[in-house]
Amino acid sequence: MINLPQQLIRLGAQARDKEDAIRQVAALLADGGATDPAYLQGMLAREGQANTYLGSGIAIPHGTPDTRRLIRQTGIAVVQLPQGVAWGEGGETVRLVVGIAAASDEHLDILRRLTRVLADDALVERLSTTDNPADLQEALTGERPAAPVAAAGPGLPHSVQVTLPNPLGMHARPATMLANLVKARGAQVRLSRDTGESADATRMMEVLALGLTRGTPLTVSADSPETLQLVADAIRGGLGDDLSAPASAAPARREPDWVPAQVGATIEGVPAADGLVVGVTRQHAPRPLDVHDQPGDPVENAAKLDAALRSAHTELENVVAEVHSRFGADKAAIFRAHQELLADQGTVQDAVALILDGHGAAWAYQQASNERIAQLQKLDDPTLAARAVDLSDVQRRVLRQLLGLPEETAQQSGAVILLAPDLTPSDTARLGPNSLLGFVTAQGGPTSHTAIIARGLGLPAVVAAGDSLLDIPDATPAILDGSAGRLYLNPSDADLRGAREHQVVLEREREAARAARHQPGATRDGVRVEVAANINRAADAAAALEAGAEGVGLMRTEFLFLERDSVPSEDEQEAEYRAMAAAMGDRPLIIRTLDIGGDKEVPYLGLAREDNSFLGIRGIRLCFERPDLFLPQLRAVARVARDHPNVHLMFPMISTLEDFRRARAMFEGVREELGAPRVPLGVMIEVPSAALIAHELAREVDFFSVGTNDLTQYTLAMDRLHPQLARQTDAMHPAVLRLIHLTVEAARREGKWVGVCGGAAGDEVGALILTGLGVKELSVSAPQVPGVKAALRRHTAAQLREMAEQALAQPTAEAVRALVQGRRESA
Ligand code: PEP
Ligand code: MG
Repeated sequence: MINLPQQLIRLGAQARDKEDAIRQVAALLADGGATDPAYLQGMLAREGQANTYLGSGIAIPHGTPDTRRLIRQTGIAVVQLPQGVAWGEGGETVRLVVGIAAASDEHLDILRRLTRVLADDALVERLSTTDNPADLQEALTGERPAAPVAAAGPGLPHSVQVTLPNPLGMHARPATMLANLVKARGAQVRLSRDTGESADATRMMEVLALGLTRGTPLTVSADSPETLQLVADAIRGGLGDDLSAPASAAPARREPDWVPAQVGATIEGVPAADGLVVGVTRQHAPRPLDVHDQPGDPVENAAKLDAALRSAHTELENVVAEVHSRFGADKAAIFRAHQELLADQGTVQDAVALILDGHGAAWAYQQASNERIAQLQKLDDPTLAARAVDLSDVQRRVLRQLLGLPEETAQQSGAVILLAPDLTPSDTARLGPNSLLGFVTAQGGPTSHTAIIARGLGLPAVVAAGDSLLDIPDATPAILDGSAGRLYLNPSDADLRGAREHQVVLEREREAARAARHQPGATRDGVRVEVAANINRAADAAAALEAGAEGVGLMRTEFLFLERDSVPSEDEQEAEYRAMAAAMGDRPLIIRTLDIGGDKEVPYLGLAREDNSFLGIRGIRLCFERPDLFLPQLRAVARVARDHPNVHLMFPMISTLEDFRRARAMFEGVREELGAPRVPLGVMIEVPSAALIAHELAREVDFFSVGTNDLTQYTLAMDRLHPQLARQTDAMHPAVLRLIHLTVEAARREGKWVGVCGGAAGDEVGALILTGLGVKELSVSAPQVPGVKAALRRHTAAQLREMAEQALAQPTAEAVRALVQGRRESA
């Protein structure tokens, strides 16, 4: 509902001509704080392009879309000209000039009311001559005047710097939560980047278009200190996202559990959801919507758009309820986010601007949303760019309403594997185990909402399989292996039987792994391999233990720093480490000192920008530069160690012997000062030089933990976050395995142990090969614990040793994976 305060109404005015009338209404808007005075130029320019005469002596001048930035808050103003002024070439006389500064979609409501006014001659007469502003207020707003509805403008008085902690950046769900939080308080909040771009926090599309990835420094500005505090805390807390999820969009690499012997062809894509199914293919091509521009009456078209948006909102309400009951709240949140996209004021506003220019409602909405879809597609970050599909989904929903097409219902496809160029989240949610077996898309990515819903549906899915997928004829017999990211075409009868048998095996394995998750990690012949969890917060400890974790192999302490906008004090750090140590009881806890730099930026530290952040002042190098950060952390750990003998300390990014000696000396100084007992000290092996001098290091450390994420990145010279390199950045590359082998051998000679806390430890092939190489501890994400333990139990230590030995001699990562696969089959 828009407000029309009295000072934005001028009664009994006179105007020399149309331009004078527009100047008067523009001045009202500017004086009332709705626009910058320069908005007048936009109004005059618009009038030059198209006459804004509406009918019955009413005109609605408004600015061109490019002058929208001059709007401070949505507003209308009315100049009453009882004597009238000549308006268009058609000789119309205007007595009510309704100036519109459309920064939101509330003016749709005004247009609807104007329609009613237009149809009522007596009312038009009264409004054109009345001396009571309340008549106009009532007719145009239907309500008593209230404070103006404000869009957050620049110059908000309170601001603070925060860093975006969300691993997948600011995508639709956190953006929705942010918008709702601000709207619920009726507050004004803006987010600004150091590039100068900024967005109103209630406008989701603006926020998404900022392209905020994890670690982006942001200025949050608000109209009150309370709102600022609340919003900044909510952003630091992740706005509902799991902040410890890995930043990389690449899926966990999995070797097929089963491969057919004789198939016609194999299509490879990116695994999006696990599972193995047998069926026939069916191409799915959504019917293109036929949108033509049907110019017409702006008021009617605006009302049509308004009605379509409302119906789409109601439809989504039903989708939310259904998805919630079928798949849970987190999947339903995707469609809540769609409701936000639907309400995006910028899109509606641009559509209305086109409608006011005389374009048809469907065409105008399509144009306005296409522009935003293209904007999202251009974002560098693949996860954020994937949100373009969500917007296309919403666009289709609204266009269907405008074109009078029924809601698309689930295809009764039966037992088919659906093949599609791409699927929208709505398509995916409509589908289900009753209507299909699984799906493969030519485009898309593993972090798309489509993939997320597929996982919720329990349907196997593969994405990014390439356009050749679309040439596969319908009814081609096929086997879809979601975990391996493969679609096998025309399998033999024996393969079909084999696949069905394997389905049964898989289900049994999953059940067995869960049931045995609390058994100690060990090979079949009882050789112990500790399976620990990578968790950063004491609050996650209970869930990790419930999953069967035998300790914490990596606590990434930088998350304590990333999730806030000031350095956590020594006391705060101590409290968190202490809570984690206590939660683990007798089980080991490995605290890793700050690993800032690379992809983990902390803006409030004021660090210099690096050309090559992964090769610069990162990890321990930063700690040496900043003893003001390092020493309090070391003291907090030493204090906890006085009471908790399970505490271990580990240094990241060690590349030289001097690095370790220097870090150790600093810790030892602190420890003695605080009278703390000895703490086992380890280094991460994540730089090739550290692996190559492992022998020298092993004499001085208590343990090693291999960070395969970085070790792979630095060995293969492939950015660990690079989406195009994701499939090649494989820790099973023999070059990486040989470095790990050197490390394990060096440690063994010195009687020290080696763990692995990088992603390879949680990948089944990785867990087996690493154990075969002599690794004694695997630290993985909590949900991976049961599967890793189960994989270890399937092999004897000797088998794994032999497999690892052969792996070291392979020429490629692919050959290493094939080797494990071969073993599995012959087992
Ligand atoms: C690694 O590099 O493998 C590792 C565990 O450290 P991080 O992922 O935090 O860099
Ligand atoms: Mg690392």
